[in-house]
Amino acid sequence: MARYTGPSCRLCRREGKKLFLKGERCYSDKCAVTRREAVPGQHGKARMRKQSEYGIQLRAKQSTRRYYGVLEGQFREYFEEASRKPGMAGENLMRILESRLDNIVYRCGFASSRKEARQLVRHNHFRLNGHKANIPSIQLRAGDVITVAEGSRSSDKLKAVVESNSSRPTPKWLDVDAAKMEARVLELPNREDIDFDVAEHLIVELYSK
Ligand code: SF4
Repeated sequence: MARYTGPSCRLCRREGKKLFLKGERCYSDKCAVTRREAVPGQHGKARMRKQSEYGIQLRAKQSTRRYYGVLEGQFREYFEEASRKPGMAGENLMRILESRLDNIVYRCGFASSRKEARQLVRHNHFRLNGHKANIPSIQLRAGDVITVAEGSRSSDKLKAVVESNSSRPTPKWLDVDAAKMEARVLELPNREDIDFDVAEHLIVELYSK
């Protein structure tokens, strides 16, 4: 499946919630979700009213997949991995998604969106435990340390990004030192530490059919 290249805000409007795909704009009153309620398209309002059980489960899966910027095949693999682990599959899935390197770079405020985080990671701007890390899907563990690469610390663009995100709250499971451009994963998050509003059991139900 190809990566979606259309307007990001359209995806949020389709899901009826903020997916935080565009950086600063998502936190401003220019956000399309706060300005317009209907889903995109001529019959948007009518489509909002009609939702089958399958439709509700599908929207839960699609909104989560889009929030983290993961393609369908990889999302399915994450679900299978989550199902094999002890505990609740839905919670495991959320923890796996949250522990991706691109997500953690975004959560630390080193990027304005997950999309930007993916790009920065691919362009070698980060080190993981001192080693090169340019794969956005790497899953981090407790104790892992991310640093901005030596050669990228003086980048005006990166400094501006860190500065503009400094007011964004950092999750308690991460310890971020913005001045040093360094962050440590204190522990992997529990479900209550993840602020994305989705009933993950609906995703489990969808994939268990
Ligand atoms: Fe657009 Fe961001 Fe608002 Fe989504 S959350 S509609 S991407 S501005």
